[in-house]
Amino acid sequence: MPPAYRRVLLKLSGEALMGEQAFGIDPGVTTQIAKDIAEIQQLGVQAAVVIGGGNLFRGLAASAKGMDRATADYMGMLATVINALALQDALEHVATAIEMRAVAEPFIRRRAVRHLEKGRVVVFAAGTGNPYFTTDTAAALRAMEMKADVILKGTKVDGIYTADPMLHPTATKFESISYIKVLEQGLKVMDATAISLCMDNRLPIVVFNLRTPGNLKRVIMGDAVGTVVSAA
Ligand code: UDP
Repeated sequence: MPPAYRRVLLKLSGEALMGEQAFGIDPGVTTQIAKDIAEIQQLGVQAAVVIGGGNLFRGLAASAKGMDRATADYMGMLATVINALALQDALEHVATAIEMRAVAEPFIRRRAVRHLEKGRVVVFAAGTGNPYFTTDTAAALRAMEMKADVILKGTKVDGIYTADPMLHPTATKFESISYIKVLEQGLKVMDATAISLCMDNRLPIVVFNLRTPGNLKRVIMGDAVGTVVSAA
């Protein structure tokens, strides 16, 4: 059976790197994630990664406490670079939206596409490079630029539920859902900017549990794992 996707963009929140910790990066987790990615690479799938920074710093939270929002957002973007370097330990290329040549190459679209074509994993860091955005929107943007077939959003839950399953045990899971329903119902999948960008460009999103071993490969093989967000 060939994989269901040829080129994917994996979106990981910063919190995915914390493991059981309350803050920061658990190297055991980054190694596991790298192994999961290597597994799909061996299937011939081209993989790009957008990593968040919420495990270290969130601009919105800091600006609520009085810090200038744009400055705080730049700090958040730098946090994503720290996470990207932690992942790079096990993966290959990091491309930053804010230039910092001593640590990684700047994001140049055609160069990033070339890396993917050569089978290298590319980690996109520093979000979109602009304050007032999120790494979910960066994931949608980069997925479009790379002409990825799908965004794979790795989370701590099995998919999209009618309500937060941690707080509401009776919540039920959607097998699939439309972009517009996600927006109308305010479901916490990705922020509205990211969802509408995907909707406008008909880029499907699969939300799945990254913590279940082997799940990334199952999604790649087209198994019914998680929730699919699409136009239907
Ligand atoms: N950020 C930003 N512009 C971007 C992406 C991220 O300003 O294009 C900042 C923003 O402050 C955000 C922080 O970086 O709070 C970390 O990103 P995000 O909250 O998306 O991380 P995640 O929730 O995925 O861990």
